Parts: sequence; structure tokens; C-alpha cells
Amino acid sequence: MDDSDGSISQKRLVHGARLRALPLNVDCPARCAFCYERRVPAVLPHVRTEHIPRYDDARFDAFRQMVARARDWEAETGRAPVFGILPTFERTPQGIAHFPVCDVFSSGLSHDQIEELVRMREGDVCMLYAVGLNLDLDFIAYLTRRYPETFRLHLSIVTFDPDLRRQLMNPDIDVDVLRRACTLTRDATFFLMLLTADQLAADVEEVLAATSADNGGLFVHKLYYDRCSPRRVVELAREAALQREVAVRRIASLPRAGRRIMCSLGADIQAYTRRFEIYTMLSRCTEEADEVIFCSPGTYAVIDGYYRSSGNLVRAMGSAFGGNLDFVQGCTARDVVAQLEELVTAGHRLRRVVVPDAMFWLDGAYDLNGERAESIAAAFPDLSLEVVAVPPEVVCSVVDLDDCLVYFNDFHRPVAAPMAE
Ligand code: SF4
Repeated sequence: MDDSDGSISQKRLVHGARLRALPLNVDCPARCAFCYERRVPAVLPHVRTEHIPRYDDARFDAFRQMVARARDWEAETGRAPVFGILPTFERTPQGIAHFPVCDVFSSGLSHDQIEELVRMREGDVCMLYAVGLNLDLDFIAYLTRRYPETFRLHLSIVTFDPDLRRQLMNPDIDVDVLRRACTLTRDATFFLMLLTADQLAADVEEVLAATSADNGGLFVHKLYYDRCSPRRVVELAREAALQREVAVRRIASLPRAGRRIMCSLGADIQAYTRRFEIYTMLSRCTEEADEVIFCSPGTYAVIDGYYRSSGNLVRAMGSAFGGNLDFVQGCTARDVVAQLEELVTAGHRLRRVVVPDAMFWLDGAYDLNGERAESIAAAFPDLSLEVVAVPPEVVCSVVDLDDCLVYFNDFHRPVAAPMAE
């Protein structure tokens, strides 16, 4: 519980550290049109929104402990924490909670506090997430110069295109600041979004030209929308989906492109890239007949293609978010139960149901509705339930540009029917 003076309890600080969430007691001021953070109350009404109150100077000692906890997390996962981004859902005694996080430079921390955060991470890397709002270039240049091995910027550019930016991004973000930030930083990570093939090629070219060959990484992302997204975001996402292949070929042909560009353009590409691991994983835990295998919408085509002749059924689960979310973390036990009821009512003879454990990612055991796999077994006690352990590298949503090309070059790749939204 927070103290009545508006400060924050130690328990909540530790919680924030585990989430890598920086302090924030207001909605993120960046207000990106595609941001799902702001729509969680509408999309997932059972999830409680928790604000982690802003740190003040008097409480900064506690902030040190938060950073120390982030170091534990890094040792545990082998990944450097990026302050200010996902994951943001946690299971608490009061139910599922969502902790909004945002751009570090818009979180109310002073320059001194941000510098202290970087200094506390000396010896490790300190990545700070930014969309360009409130980004002071002199301060970025100072941090880069003063902490060359520690400070790294995680810059979410989205696009430089002025028309598309007007539709998606806060107009207060100065594009020239984004451009200059690209040239100032060392080993930064840049995020771009596929909106149109022309836009993406121009944006990638610009980032590659502004940075040296060994300077950081470039990530290209899909535009996701959920059931409550603004109409324009939905339209842009659908148009972008049609241009994936052209866009990938365009950026792969750029002179400076290469393995430095990583893509998260849909779970179908990632599932195809990992298909042999998925088949091996499933062959160890599926049997001969009368099974129904549930998977994420993005993995469906690859798994259905493998099982089509086996007589077993493959079903894509729905997402708690709706929209075009195609990865397993959005899938829920409730959707499995609903589909099983339909199958049984339609007269399907079923003996076993197979689900991936990655959909139960909250506390390693609960889905986004706060339900465990056992809720499926409880609804269908006559079916045996197999929860498949999916390795983290299979769940990971990023592949390199070469993997995308292999996917689009394979004329025999399994292609799923359009997702029901
Ligand atoms: S910066 Fe991140 S949290 Fe803030 S509005 Fe944009 S997407 Fe949402």
C-alpha cells in the first residue's frame, strides 16, 4: 500500500524493479495512438491499473534498491533490462494488475536522477527507452560521452514520415531531435514500424546512414491493434500487413542492410523460422489420435500443416486483446474452454487436449485472465490435459532479415486463413 503522503511502499518499489518499470504517477504523456497501455482498462476490464508513484529525492535510496533488483533480473534471464518498457502485467493478491510504464525521459525524473540511474549501472549496460518527447540532446551527448560503456539509448522512432507521424505520434515530438539523437548515441537500439513499404525503406535508409555499421541494432516492428484501437490505427495495420513481403525485400536490398536488422513482423514468420523446433517439441508430447492441439493464431498455419494428415485437430486460440495480436501471451484458457465446448457439441470424439505453457506467463502459471491450465481440466474432467513446455527462444518474437526472406521465398510455406478479430 502507498503511504498516505503519496510516497511509495518498499513492496511496490520492489515490484516496480521486477517489472523494470520506472516511476510514473500519470498517464504516459507521449500519447502514441497505437499505445495499448492507455487502452488496458477498456480492453481488459478485469485488470486493475496500478500507478507506481513518482520517486522524489527523499525516496531515492529506495530507487537504488530497485536498480539492484534489475541486476538480479538480468542475471536470472541473461538479458539486459531496458528501463521503461514491458512487461507490465503482474498477478497480485487483488487480481491481475497492469503497471503503466513509459518513456524514461517523460517519467518525471530529473537529469540528476537519470544520471544516477546510469551511474548505478556502471559495469553493466543501462538502456533507457525514449520516444523523443522531452529528449534533451545536450544531456544525451553528455551521457554518451561520460558513460561510453554504460549508457545506451533505446530510441523508438516509429517513422520519420511527417504524414504518418501526424496520424500516430504526439506532435510535440520533434523529428529533428530524433534525427540528431541517431548521430549522437553509441550502440543505440532503434525501433521502426512497418506502415508502408516505401516509408519503411526510407526510414531504414535514414537510420543506417546516420549510424556507423557497428553502432547498435535496428528493429522493425509490426503495428498491432486491439479491439479498442482507434479506427485509423486498425486501417494502417491492415494496410501494412499487405506490404510485409515487399517491405522486407526492399530493406534487404539496401546497401547497408544486413543481419543488423531484426524484425518482429508477425508470429507466423517467427513460427515458420522455428518450425523444426516446434515439430520436435510437439512430437514428444502428442500422441496418435483424438487430440486437439491449441496454439496461438500466429503459430496455427505451421502446426496445422504438420498435423493435417494425422486426424488430430489444431485450433488457433483467441487473444484476450482481440485485434491482430497473434502471439501466445494474449491467448487464454477461457477461449480453449469455449472452443472445446463447441467441438464436443459438434460431436468430435476427443481424448486429449494439448496447450502451450507460454500462455500461462503471469507468475509462470496464470493467463491474462488470471486462470491456470487446471481450469481447462476442471471444465473437461474426462479429457487428459497436456501442457507443453515451449522454450523461450520459440516464444521470442524477433527474427533476422534473412529469416524473413526465407519465409517469403518459400512458395510452399503454410499460410493461415485471416484471423478472426
Ligand atoms: S511512449 Fe510507450 S507508453 Fe508512452 S504512449 Fe508511446 S507507446 Fe505508450
